[in-house]
Amino acid sequence: MHETLKTYFGYDEFRPLQKEIILNILEKKNTLVLMPTGGGKSLCFQLPALMFEGLTLVISPLIALMKDQVDTLRANGINAAYLNSSLDQAEIEDIQAEARSGALKILYIAPERLARVEFQLFLRSLRVSLLAIDEAHCISEWGHDFRPEYRNLKELKRSFPNVPVVALTATATMRVRKDILAELDMPDAFVFLSSHNRPNLHYTVKPKLQSFGQLIELLKAHKGESIIIYCFSRKDTESLAVDLNKAGFTSAAYHAGLSADVRSRTQERFIRDQVSIIVATIAFGMGIDKPDVRLVVHMDLPKTVEGYYQETGRAGRDSLPSDCVLFYSYGDKRKQDFFIQQIDDDRERALAEKKLSQVIEYGELRSCRRKFLLEYFGEPVELENCGTCDNCSSEPEEIHDATEVAQKILSAVLRTGERFGLAYICDVLRGSKQKKILENHHDQLSVYGVAKDVPMNRLREYVDLLLVKKYLVKQMGEFPTIGVSTIGKISLRDRTPILLPKPKSFALTIQPKKGANENVLPYESALFEQLRALRRSIAEEQNVPPFVIFGDKTLQEIAYYLPRSLSSFGKIFGVGERKLKQFGTQFLLLVQVYAKAHNLAERTQEVDVDAPHVRTSSVSRESSTFQKTKELLEKKFDIEQIAKERMLNKSTVVQHVLKLVEEDPDLDVMHLKPPAKQFIEIEKAFQASPTKLLTAVFNILEGKYTYEELRIARLFL
Ligand code: ADP
Ligand code: ZN
Repeated sequence: MHETLKTYFGYDEFRPLQKEIILNILEKKNTLVLMPTGGGKSLCFQLPALMFEGLTLVISPLIALMKDQVDTLRANGINAAYLNSSLDQAEIEDIQAEARSGALKILYIAPERLARVEFQLFLRSLRVSLLAIDEAHCISEWGHDFRPEYRNLKELKRSFPNVPVVALTATATMRVRKDILAELDMPDAFVFLSSHNRPNLHYTVKPKLQSFGQLIELLKAHKGESIIIYCFSRKDTESLAVDLNKAGFTSAAYHAGLSADVRSRTQERFIRDQVSIIVATIAFGMGIDKPDVRLVVHMDLPKTVEGYYQETGRAGRDSLPSDCVLFYSYGDKRKQDFFIQQIDDDRERALAEKKLSQVIEYGELRSCRRKFLLEYFGEPVELENCGTCDNCSSEPEEIHDATEVAQKILSAVLRTGERFGLAYICDVLRGSKQKKILENHHDQLSVYGVAKDVPMNRLREYVDLLLVKKYLVKQMGEFPTIGVSTIGKISLRDRTPILLPKPKSFALTIQPKKGANENVLPYESALFEQLRALRRSIAEEQNVPPFVIFGDKTLQEIAYYLPRSLSSFGKIFGVGERKLKQFGTQFLLLVQVYAKAHNLAERTQEVDVDAPHVRTSSVSRESSTFQKTKELLEKKFDIEQIAKERMLNKSTVVQHVLKLVEEDPDLDVMHLKPPAKQFIEIEKAFQASPTKLLTAVFNILEGKYTYEELRIARLFL
């Protein structure tokens, strides 16, 4: 298995669950694979296909994707083909003949073909060893993408009663899962369910203020990389694309109102790296399998959390760090509400409202966004701080004196009788002329309009913060309302200062933080650009998308290790035998010229020294970064010194320390223990917090200690 993986795909390791899945298939057992986008589903049937004698049939609903997949396989020296309506009769006959001859290993087919009798006859003339059903949720009416043609699969399965089946999908609720198993008549199938977590995606929410300026900053930080920007309406996509082009960023709009021709050309240009920014409605994405999308931006609220997960899921399929940014404004809710109110069916409307309120919750969240997303999908999460979402990776909140605005809010809640929700309170404070406010005579109150100068988003944030800090309380009922807590009343009466974290809307500049930064090699970026250009010209010559030649990770490794021989080039991630032969010399030449001009030597891959047959893996490289931290710890460096020495941020160093201690409880880290007085204070806070969650302790201590300090202290508790 490992040999086939390296020889054909150029990879050294399996991704989580791949190995187990493949072993199951090799034992000819039926299998259902539920794995998020980018998890590496295709390999789960492509690798067994190579190991089995005979042919693997792959059923796939998206004609546009078949070609890319087949191109990718062929570039790896795998004999694959597809049959769909884009081919003419002569081409079809050629492929059928090749399939019959036994030369073909993998054949992709569109499901509608299965209904034809002559096609069934053709299939029966083949020696089929595996049936793979891609996008298997299409079989279910309960899925979001039901394809009636997928019902033909039952028939197909009957034609090959002894052939194992593997069904694969990224989205499957319990209901859909049951449907797949029932429709394919394989109740005995092994189900492999992998986590929804996408560790390489960094999630950020930004207040939607001066969003165009913020967007430009983001685009600059991701210059030249593939980017998708989602907008609410077709009109928005077009006007934003025009504005971006004026600002010097070449972009193309994409929405369902454009002709099929324009749409497929835009898609093609994006896949081929001829345009790097697409401004689109959510119509864009299905049928896009681009592995190197580095940024997905939502300019408006998504409709549902599922939708958001799916749309952001298009970033970073190649598992390199990528950013997902949402511009959040509570006011945008109205755009969605308008459509929700048109839904006739009461239950459906209520459901849509609930889903939208969960999106709002995500936008206003002050704890880990990854945890929220995973819990949304019913996945239990141990972790409280993922380190790669804005709430987890941002510097500890800056505290500021918010007494004035806080008092205004508290008195507005009291004066209106503690009978209203957040939006109403803010409207009163901002002096809105809403009918309801006038009817209630709340425009007569002294608090009416006193916070006119505070932008709506910021005001809402302050209300949220007062809720978090327990000055306000939420009262549940038919409509959630807000009341003032005892602490709130006391501080209003005594005029005590109210300190709150600075609202995020004060910080408008974006510093894109990439997920798992330290896993990216410090490669030569100028060489990387040259390698990209070479990749593009080869791709154009061969008329395939650039990622078919090599992925970004491969180019990054080349630009770091600077291989000088074919044998070291062959060790690079993603270089299999075929690609080594086909492209090795061209890429080596480029490296040679660059290395000479910059006087650089080849970097050898560390593990090779002790184990010549095992190639460096990301894990061993990771362990070497831990090793360096460990060495400094042994020299009694503290967190700050290590961070400085290693040019890492402190939270990363703390993560290293925690992991090192977990692996080796005898590791001496006593010098990291906080001074006794501080330690006792932190210890008390942990004791006082029933949940022991870091955020709770952080709040009890009112931000006196950073999360990093708390984590280290906890180590000694
Ligand atoms: P999915 O269909 O689950 O969305 P893909 O099969 O398209 O995911 O795989 C996503 C990317 O991951 C592809 O670029 C693929 O080549 C790569 N990939 C798959 N398996 C591995 C592996 N074991 N090691 C490295 N990269 C892999
Ligand atoms: Zn997080």
